[in-house]
Amino acid sequence: MSGPPLAAPPAPFPVILAGPSGAGKTTLRDRLLDEPGSPYLFSVSMTTRSPRPGEREGVDYRFVSHADFEALAKDGALLEHAAVHGERYGTPRDNLDRAREAGARLLLDIDVQGARQVRRAAPEAVSIFIVPPTADRIVRQLRGRGSETPAQLERRLAGARAELEAAAEFDYLVVNDRIEDAVAAVSSVVATHRGPAGRLGAADREYVARIVRELDRIRGEW
Ligand code: 5GP
Repeated sequence: MSGPPLAAPPAPFPVILAGPSGAGKTTLRDRLLDEPGSPYLFSVSMTTRSPRPGEREGVDYRFVSHADFEALAKDGALLEHAAVHGERYGTPRDNLDRAREAGARLLLDIDVQGARQVRRAAPEAVSIFIVPPTADRIVRQLRGRGSETPAQLERRLAGARAELEAAAEFDYLVVNDRIEDAVAAVSSVVATHRGPAGRLGAADREYVARIVRELDRIRGEW
């Protein structure tokens, strides 16, 4: 006997990773994508910035001109978009549809402005803020690129501080000290998440506030 058609299972909720440079977000993201049987589909963003050595078109980003980016944003083809360090970044709306069709979990590596917009457009998404254990890691990472002028470095540090200031809006905080632990922490959050968790708790907010204080102290010493 055939009963009523079964409803399609709900699509896996998207996972948003955000956090300041130096948090090791890219490594974490790659590890999640490379795990055997990974349920994730990486959300390839559009950007107006130039490719860095080794970055591949359509894999790391879709590199577009400012004019094309504007046209896509105007047409509503982007789920969210933001300006970061003077360049434009955005998530193609299609990425969400593609993940739904594939039954995969969309993994977004975006900034805090984008995270805010995705939470509005896809309230089922879980948002995870990634921090390093110390402010020093942020400074070292930003210095490590080596190509920045002091003014650019200061702008990037101010950007990192602004990202940290938005941490409280996220559902969860993951401290990336040992990468294996951070991967396990994200996997555990995703496995146990049952709905909007809301803002970070007091202990997590204090953890981030400490990093902000450290960052301010380091910047003050220059
Ligand atoms: P990068 O240029 O170093 O690859 O990325 C700079 C920042 O832009 C990172 O914080 C990254 O997470 C963010 N980003 C990358 N793609 C997107 C996107 O599609 N939307 C938003 N809002 N931010 C993005």
